[in-house]
Amino acid sequence: MKPQQFGDYTVRKLVEVVEPFKPEFAFKEFDAARLAGHADWLAPNFIAQGADGLVLPFSFHTYVVQAQGKTILIDTCIGNHKDRAALPFWHMQNRPYLDNLYALGIVPEEVDYVMCTHLHADHVGWNTKLENGQWVPTFPNARYIFSKDDYDHYNNVKPGEFGYTSLADSVFPIVDAGLAEIVTMDYAIGDGLSLVPTPGHTPGHYCVHLQSGGHEVFFTGDMLHHPVLIAEPQWQTNFCLDPAQSTATRRAFIAEHAGGAAIVLAAHFAGPTAGRIVDAGGQPRFAVLDGA
Ligand SMILES: [Zn+2]
Repeated sequence: MKPQQFGDYTVRKLVEVVEPFKPEFAFKEFDAARLAGHADWLAPNFIAQGADGLVLPFSFHTYVVQAQGKTILIDTCIGNHKDRAALPFWHMQNRPYLDNLYALGIVPEEVDYVMCTHLHADHVGWNTKLENGQWVPTFPNARYIFSKDDYDHYNNVKPGEFGYTSLADSVFPIVDAGLAEIVTMDYAIGDGLSLVPTPGHTPGHYCVHLQSGGHEVFFTGDMLHHPVLIAEPQWQTNFCLDPAQSTATRRAFIAEHAGGAAIVLAAHFAGPTAGRIVDAGGQPRFAVLDGA
């Protein structure tokens, strides 16, 4: 994605990694023939031919949002040196994410806010980094915005249970350092960034709603894992805590914005990434922005 300007806000995408997922890895239930039928509008950015069938490129990236002297990061990917033995592709990564942040002209100390749309391992990873054997905040001057409903849910996950390790190494050190803001959905940053509750993927999942200069943008996190879900919102992913509620949340968002001007910036859409929900003869589709 090229840098985008929305009113006062500049938005850039900082990619950690892009991984081709097999459809059956992403979706609990899907129709292979229907998926292939969507290739005409998903290709080349969102579907590709792999060695043994179609694959869905999943991007792991942070949105770097800047306006009025503030720097805001939305979702912090997987992180380095994190023990994710249950997820080999995320396990003990060592990627040049911070070098790529520097290349954008940003040093970690100048980040003002870190917004995690939810508390899954691939959205909190760079909250912390390993220093002398300790997990320390990567962005020591930032306020980290965690939703109360997600925090309350994951705070009850016990050691050994799925989801605990990322809390232990990427969320609790932020709370312990006094940098966490555990917020309800009326939280806002200035008059341009607010939260929209979008439960289902996790109980406290939020989208970030940007409004500036007549532009309306939604950073949709994992409400929409892949553009095909705009056409097939009923397909359940393998990653949602409450798949039925995820579908209901998706359907409502798509119905509200199909054919409208709102721009969608999702957490895992690959390539040019930024787009709108268009109404193609009564069929909602995702269309990449010109110049994205
Ligand atoms: Zn995710």
